[in-house]
Amino acid sequence: MSELKEWEFYKTLLETTNAIPWQINWDTKEFSYIGPQIESLLGWPQDSWKSAQDWIDRIHPDDRDKTVGMCIQLSDDGTDHEADYRALTQDGGYVWIRDVVHVIRENDKTIAIIGFMFDISERKSMELELEELNKKNQALLLQDPLTQVANRKALNERIEFEFKRAERNKRPLSILFIDIDHFKKYNDDFGHLQGDQCLIAVAQLLKTQFSRAYDFVARFGGEEFVVILPETTLEDAVSSAERFRKAVAHLTIPNLMASQHADITVSIGVNTHGAGQNYLNVSSFLQSADQLLYQAKAEGRNQVRFLS
Ligand code: GH3
Ligand code: MG
Ligand code: MG
Repeated sequence: MSELKEWEFYKTLLETTNAIPWQINWDTKEFSYIGPQIESLLGWPQDSWKSAQDWIDRIHPDDRDKTVGMCIQLSDDGTDHEADYRALTQDGGYVWIRDVVHVIRENDKTIAIIGFMFDISERKSMELELEELNKKNQALLLQDPLTQVANRKALNERIEFEFKRAERNKRPLSILFIDIDHFKKYNDDFGHLQGDQCLIAVAQLLKTQFSRAYDFVARFGGEEFVVILPETTLEDAVSSAERFRKAVAHLTIPNLMASQHADITVSIGVNTHGAGQNYLNVSSFLQSADQLLYQAKAEGRNQVRFLS
């Protein structure tokens, strides 16, 4: 291969790949070269890339400072690096670019930087889609699929948080343990699918009745629900539990025939941490609420029990 042919070979190679080669003179901060492919990618003509400022001006404002700051620092230090950022297209859009930069030094001083720009928009949009999906999955992991209220895992996380918050702020924290009465019989009478409809209706009623910003409704499991009421005294928690118990009597359950009478009732244990009764930890607080629910069952169901 002669000198010229070799040079031509490299030039052809560089200017026909998807990666766009470029070089900046570090003294003058001028482009000494940029591949012609830049025009088909971003729309700006090859000869419009004169100085590093042209490159800076065409970076998305949200990515600009970080990208430029990092590039200048690492180029001065003589460290090869990569940067992902959005580049402005001539028609006003943006393309995700990965710039891979090699620093050329002479006598311990940077004289030029050279590199390749890669179009990574496809990879980036897949990454963003995946991120969205992960977020959605994360949310689904904390939700009960049948009733769409929080599940037990979410409840465990939230009660720990609220317990600590109540301790720190010395505020009362109330909790309701709710269990549907004779639910086994409901399933036996109307079938398991109708049982599911009932659970959905109860969860929905809980959500509408306990809808302040910090109220938290969760399905504890089976036909049991838990409601966390931060900043709520025992007295207020008991009266809202009573209000809910009474509302259950008027619950309409979808797909139940007019001739079928559901007669749903619930038993509720109410417990409050702080203001009078104090618990050492979350588990003793929950245990006490569960015992109160058990008492409500033992004393005839369809009632609210609390420590008086
Ligand atoms: P008690 O008044 O003592 O609470 O009586 P109960 O019949 O409600 O209590 P038990 O624990 O004996 O029965 C609970 C029933 O809840 C049995 C189970 O089939 C039903 N169950 C639990 N999870 C679901 C569900 O996801 N869907 C339906 N349809 N039923 C469920
Ligand atoms: Mg139960
Ligand atoms: Mg039950």
